[in-house]
Amino acid sequence: MAEPYAGTPGATMVPMPPARRLAASVVAWAVVAAALAGCARDSDDALRREAGAPTTVTSAVEATTTTSELPPTTTTTEDGLTLAEAQPATEACPAVPAHAQPDADRPVYRLSLDIDLEANAVEGRLVALFVPDLDTDRLVFRLWPNGPRPSSAGTHLETGPVQVDGDDRPSELTDPTTLVVPLPGGLRAGTRVEVAMPWRLTLPGPANDRISRDGDAVRLGSFYPILPWEPGVGWALDPPTTAFAEAGTSPTADYTMTITAPDGLDVMASGTEVDDVWTATAVRDVAVSVGRFRTVRAVAHAPNPVEVTVGVHEGTGEDPQPYLDRTVAALEDFATRFGPYPWPTHALAITPGLRGGIEYPGLVLQGPGTLARTTSHEVGHLWFYGIVGNNQGRDPWLDEGLASWAEARFEGTLGQFVARDIPSGARGRAGEPMTFWEGRQADYYRGVYVQGAQALAALGDPDRVDCALRHYVAANAFGIARPADVATALGQVFDRPERTLAVYGLFP
Ligand SMILES: [Zn+2]
Repeated sequence: MAEPYAGTPGATMVPMPPARRLAASVVAWAVVAAALAGCARDSDDALRREAGAPTTVTSAVEATTTTSELPPTTTTTEDGLTLAEAQPATEACPAVPAHAQPDADRPVYRLSLDIDLEANAVEGRLVALFVPDLDTDRLVFRLWPNGPRPSSAGTHLETGPVQVDGDDRPSELTDPTTLVVPLPGGLRAGTRVEVAMPWRLTLPGPANDRISRDGDAVRLGSFYPILPWEPGVGWALDPPTTAFAEAGTSPTADYTMTITAPDGLDVMASGTEVDDVWTATAVRDVAVSVGRFRTVRAVAHAPNPVEVTVGVHEGTGEDPQPYLDRTVAALEDFATRFGPYPWPTHALAITPGLRGGIEYPGLVLQGPGTLARTTSHEVGHLWFYGIVGNNQGRDPWLDEGLASWAEARFEGTLGQFVARDIPSGARGRAGEPMTFWEGRQADYYRGVYVQGAQALAALGDPDRVDCALRHYVAANAFGIARPADVATALGQVFDRPERTLAVYGLFP
C-alpha cells in the first residue's frame, strides 16, 4: 500500500504447467552474510520530519547484524521462483514449513500498452485467462483509476466491448471502479474462461499519486482492469478510498506486458524484459514507469540472486546509487528475517511529484527525497502485500502494520515506533477497515502503521516476532491472508497472542 509520510500513508503470459517440478539449490550462508555486511547508508529524510516521526536513524548495517539464523535452504521452481524449503527448528524459532506454492490455476494476463503522450493517454488491450475456484455468475474487474483520488487529478479508465471466450458480452459499471460482466449460464469452479477488452487510460497532469504524468515522466500503478478475486471467498467489492492508500484485493497471476513508449524514453516495469515484452510470474499486480532514467544495477542475494535496478528520472536531482544500496540491503535483510524473495528481478523508479512511495510487485514507485525509511518500508511490502497478499480495504493492517514492522527492524527504529503516541480516535482500532479510516485520514498512519508495529512489539522478543512472520510468510505465500492467519503464525511462537493484540484492536 501507499506509504504515507506526507500526511497520509503507501507483475506476463505463460500458461503454467499444472505440476511445477522443483530443482533443489542450496545457498551458502556465507554469501548472504557477506552481502549483509556492506549495505545501506542513511540520509536525512524530510518526509519523516514532516510526518512528525522521530529523526534518529540507526545504521541499517547495525540492525541487520542481529538476525543471524540458519541458512535458508531454497528450491527453484521451473518457472524461476525461489521458494524456501522446510527449515528445521532452532533454539530461537520452531521449524518453519516450506513456502506454499502459487496456485497452478492462477490467472494469466496479456496486456498491451501503447503510451501516447501526444494524446495524453495509454491505449491498452487486456486478455485474461481466469479459473475461479468457486462457482460464480459474473466476471468482475476493478477500474481503480476511476476512484475518487485519481479521478480528481483527471485520470480516467474506460473499457471497450468485452468478449468472453470470443463472444461479445454486455457489461456494466455498477460504480465507477467496478465493471461487471454477467455470465447468464454461470461459470463453474475449475472452468477456464478467456476474457478480452480494449481499454483507454486518460493521463492526469503531475499528481502525488500512483498515476501521474509530469512532462516525459509517467507513473502507472493500478492502471488497468484487474480481477479482484479472493480464492475461497469470491469477488472483492470493497469501495475505493479517497486516502493515499489502497482498497484492492488481487490473486497472484502471470503477466505478459507489451509496452510501446515514445521514442527516446525509457521504460521500467515489473518483471523481466526482452524486446519490449515484460513477463512476471506469480505476482498480484504490475506497474510501469516511463521517463529519462539514469539507472544503476546490482545483484542482491535474497538469498538467490536478484537483479535490482534503480532508475532516477532526469531533473529529480537524485543519485540512484544510495537507493540501490539501500534496496539491496533491505532485500537481503528481509530475506533473512522473513524468508526468500521469490522473483529474479526488482526495480525502483524515482519520478517527480510523489511524496513517499507506492509498492508494486517487481517495481516500487518513489518520489525524490525518499531514501531512508520509505525505501525499506516499500521493500518490506514485497513480503507483506507482495508474497502474502491481503484485502487492503478490509485489513489494511496486514500490509501496512507488517511493512512498518519490517521497516522498523531494518532501520533500527522499533523503539521510536513504540514511543509514538496514538491519537485517541485510533487507539485500539488498528484492525479497522479503510471504510473506518475514510473519515479519519489524519489518524490513519499512526492508527494502522505505527500501532500495528506497536502491537507486534508488545508480544516480546522482536527476533521471535520475526520468526513468527517467517511462519506467516511460508504458510501463506502467494495467497491472500486474513487476520486469523497472523494469529496462527504468532501462535507458533507466542502463548495466546490474541490476548496481547486485542488491546490494539487486532483480534478483538
Ligand atoms: Zn506502506
